Amino acid sequence: MATELLFRGDAYLRTAQARVTGVTARGIELDATIFYPLGGGQPGDTGVLARANGDRIVIADTRKGDAIDSVLHIPAPASPSPEIGETVGLEIDWARRYALMRLHTALHVMSCVVVAPVTGGNIAPDKARLDFDIDMSLLDGGKIERETNALIARGVETETVWITDEELDARPELVKTMSVQPPRGAGRVRLLRIPGIDLQPCGGTHVRNIAEIGGIRVLRIRNEGRRNRRVEIALAS
Ligand SMILES: [Zn+2]
Repeated sequence: MATELLFRGDAYLRTAQARVTGVTARGIELDATIFYPLGGGQPGDTGVLARANGDRIVIADTRKGDAIDSVLHIPAPASPSPEIGETVGLEIDWARRYALMRLHTALHVMSCVVVAPVTGGNIAPDKARLDFDIDMSLLDGGKIERETNALIARGVETETVWITDEELDARPELVKTMSVQPPRGAGRVRLLRIPGIDLQPCGGTHVRNIAEIGGIRVLRIRNEGRRNRRVEIALAS
C-alpha cells in the first residue's frame, strides 16, 4: 500500500501521527511517514513508533516496500506489534537524520567540484563518499575541500523541482550518477536544485540552506578500481 511520504514535502519533520495499515514479518506499514527508506545511498531512518498504551516500538531500519511509495518500518527484535488501524506517534532519530541530511547535501556540492562521472556513493551518519571515474592525479584533497567549502559559504537555499520522465529523457546530462538511475515509473522525477551550483535527480532528504552543512573535511582519497576513485568526507564540525 502506498504511504504518504511526508519527508518529501518537509525533511525537517521530527514527529508525526499516522495510522497502521499493515503488519507483516517484513515490517510495519503506515498511511503516512516521516521515516526515509534506504535509497540513493542514504540509509533508512531509525526511531520509535509510540502506541497510545505507552508501548514504544523501536524502529531499527526503514526500507522501501514492493509498491511505489510503500515504506516498511522494521522493528527491532522482540518489539511489541501494533494493530492494523491504530494510530501511532512517529519519532525519528533526528540527530542521526540531520547529520545524514548535511552530509547528503554536501555530496551534491562536492559533485560539482570534482567534474567527472559519479560511479557510486554512500552516506553514513559520520562520513560520506562519492566514487568518480577519474584519473587519481586529478584528485587533490586540499583543493576539493577548499572549493567545496567555498561553495557551501555561498549559503544558498535548496529547492525541490519535479519534471516528467520525458523531460528527464531529453536532458540526460542531469544524471551524473551512473550507478544510481533515478526511479522511473511514477511519471515524474524529483530533482534537487542548488541554484548556481547543482541540479540533479534525487529522492533523498536535504538541508534547506547549504550553509547548514557548515563545511567539510576530506578524510581520504583511495583507488578502489579503475573507475572508482573514492573521495571520503566528514563534516568539519
Ligand atoms: Zn540528494
